[in-house]
Amino acid sequence: MQTYDNYISGEWLASVSTTPNRNPSNLADVIGEYAQADAEQAKGAIAAAAKAFPAWAMGSIQERANSLDKIGSEILARKDELGRLLSREEGKTLPEGVGEVTRAGQIFRFFAGEVVRMSGEKLASIRPGVEIEVTREPIGVIGIITPWNFPIAIPAWKIAPALAYGNTVVFKPADFVPGCAWALADIIARAGLPPGVFNLVMGRGSVVGETMVNHPSVAAISFTGSVSTGRGIAAKAIARMAKLQLEMGGKNPLVVLDDADLATAVNVAVQGAYYSTGQRCTASSRLIVTTGIHDRFVAALADKVKALKVDDALAQGTDIGPVVDQSQLDQDLSYLDIGRKEGATLVLGGERLKRQHDGYYLAPALFTEASNDMRISREEIFGPVASVIRAKDYDEALALANDTEFGLSTGIVTTSLKYASHFKRHAQAGMVMVNVPTAGVDYHVPFGGRKGSSYGPREQGRYAAEFFTIVKTAYTAP
Ligand code: NAD
Repeated sequence: MQTYDNYISGEWLASVSTTPNRNPSNLADVIGEYAQADAEQAKGAIAAAAKAFPAWAMGSIQERANSLDKIGSEILARKDELGRLLSREEGKTLPEGVGEVTRAGQIFRFFAGEVVRMSGEKLASIRPGVEIEVTREPIGVIGIITPWNFPIAIPAWKIAPALAYGNTVVFKPADFVPGCAWALADIIARAGLPPGVFNLVMGRGSVVGETMVNHPSVAAISFTGSVSTGRGIAAKAIARMAKLQLEMGGKNPLVVLDDADLATAVNVAVQGAYYSTGQRCTASSRLIVTTGIHDRFVAALADKVKALKVDDALAQGTDIGPVVDQSQLDQDLSYLDIGRKEGATLVLGGERLKRQHDGYYLAPALFTEASNDMRISREEIFGPVASVIRAKDYDEALALANDTEFGLSTGIVTTSLKYASHFKRHAQAGMVMVNVPTAGVDYHVPFGGRKGSSYGPREQGRYAAEFFTIVKTAYTAP
């Protein structure tokens, strides 16, 4: 069995222990043994990143751009192979895996361009003869902590801007998906960065993650994951006044209005609620449907969901892969019980499925007659489970959509310009989708939410500069 090491200060280093990376479609398939760092190794990576920072921050922007372009180009050239690895370790289907890898490559290429597009402002002073310049500078060492559900895209959308704007990086990937993280580190390690500029530290959140969050040399933490972990990180990072960016959970609504095109509504709902096994922070797990279309929508949706092929993520024709691991499966099953006990009607799905290999297969589940105050409508399940909530009209649907602690993504299916425009203006979420799924976003525009979903500046696109740089105002008199 091959062992994969951590990458610290330009060297591949073994750790005190390793952990197996298992394929959720076939539990007998172990992808490799991956290093598990202890706190000492994490501290070594932080020290290396701190040492590398001054020269990298002041270094050639052309070299930086070249390195990022090289990383992006290699990812894109190897998208099929890396997509396969992603699907094998995370369980999303092969087209989804290849799509995610493609996006990671595009993100690196986008930020390669941003390196040389960085600009500032020059302003007149209110004091005659004085000139003012407003510029952006790198922050220092960035601690990057990522979840398992986008094993290459989320690391890419944090690492690429961090490096592009002149910071150094310590990257801790999620425990279940070290394969893509290691492959990405291997590509970065060959891209010509000086030692210490980028470091990979695989290991437990409570060990490696905590060390990064508490360490005074880590100037900023960019985290994506669950609300409870995010809140714990925030308490510690803010106490030492580190810069902080948190992307957390969602309970995203999709409103379907009476005037919706039925086929569009069903496609948008199936894509948003069930694809990637529902394991997306932007998944539309609340389907808020107005009375006039409700029964037709539920019937057509149930037909479509029944026809979804749940199987090995790597098999051709699979629509929905397995759940990522036993603990997530247990969580999904427990919410199915909760929904039944709360009085929602489980119209289909929710049973464990047997396939050729032993894996975490779950039939996509659909509840109807749910209300917005049930736990299944308020808490993030993070599996292939959606609930239909009936609304009497647009106004009630909008109120229900906004009645949540979260505010990541929200959607509406309608043919009415009036309702689409009103919804875009009044929806309380960071991202609003009209006639497209709540999940699935572009790489060159801001990503992030409101309320309990996010904290701190937006990710991606040019807005990434807000988090990964710090502003300086300089006054000059002749
Ligand atoms: P998680 O919170 O369990 O783990 C996320 C990361 O934090 C992992 O790398 C983990 O090892 C690390 N971690 C755990 N404890 C830590 C600690 N005490 N200190 C520092 N780091 C620690 O989340 P997960 O189960 O990997 O991911 C699923 C969650 O991520 C869902 O809630 C989902 O909504 C969310 N998510 C959000 C977005 C978004 O952009 N809003 C995107 C994807 C996933």
